[in-house]
Amino acid sequence: MYFVDLHTHTKFSDGQPDYKEVINRAKEIGLKCVAITDHFDPYDPKDEVRNISEKDLIEFLKNAKSYGYSISQPVLCGIETCTDFNGNIRVSDKVFNTCDLIITSGHYVEYEGEIKKGEYFNDFYWESYKEKIINMGSGQGDIIGHPEGYLPIESMIIPNTTTYEQRKEICKLISERYFDENFINQLTKALIKNDKAYELHCATETPRISIIQSLMKKNVRLSVGTDAHVLQMVGRVNWALDILKKNNYKNLFDYLKLI
Ligand SMILES: [Zn+2]
Ligand SMILES: [Zn+2]
Repeated sequence: MYFVDLHTHTKFSDGQPDYKEVINRAKEIGLKCVAITDHFDPYDPKDEVRNISEKDLIEFLKNAKSYGYSISQPVLCGIETCTDFNGNIRVSDKVFNTCDLIITSGHYVEYEGEIKKGEYFNDFYWESYKEKIINMGSGQGDIIGHPEGYLPIESMIIPNTTTYEQRKEICKLISERYFDENFINQLTKALIKNDKAYELHCATETPRISIIQSLMKKNVRLSVGTDAHVLQMVGRVNWALDILKKNNYKNLFDYLKLI
């Protein structure tokens, strides 16, 4: 069975547990592979992400990898990063080559127009987001992270007025309104051509089932990740596994080739 978690965070970036705890947990629950994919993005708007040094990252990845070996738990060490508008990853060759896998996620959009607080349906903004995600689909990296979850809505939110659940609902409404068939078709084409995987994002249970079915119909490669930031979430992939099993779907991200 494909019992893997290919998207987790540790306290190296914005997660709570350290890498040993995540890897121990993976072993304890029998994960065939766990990927440690902390944020690394020299252009991230958040200081704590942008200020991580390359040297620290490389040392961290090597330590996590060798700890995995030492307890015989398959571990992939990589990063989650946002690209530029054209889908280019902006890390050095050294970082790129040290990573077993790279998740590219649309954490922000290069958008110069006006954004009004409290207005989530900004057509131009979401058109830019979609264009960027399609570019990411044909750009570097192995997996496209949460294209329908954790959407970049921070600039639209009135601070301290929404709960996590409400933001999740806002993302769902945005997905329904903007991420239409035409967008999915274009993204699908890019991903297939590039052999890049689309992530089933367990933290937000996205994308929508109809989208997963459409991805499966076109035989797009899928990846499974929790995006765990706390230890208890590591390996909680039932939502995705149930869907894969029900549909007997086999075109999954091939972690074995990277171990
Ligand atoms: Zn992310
Ligand atoms: Zn993440």
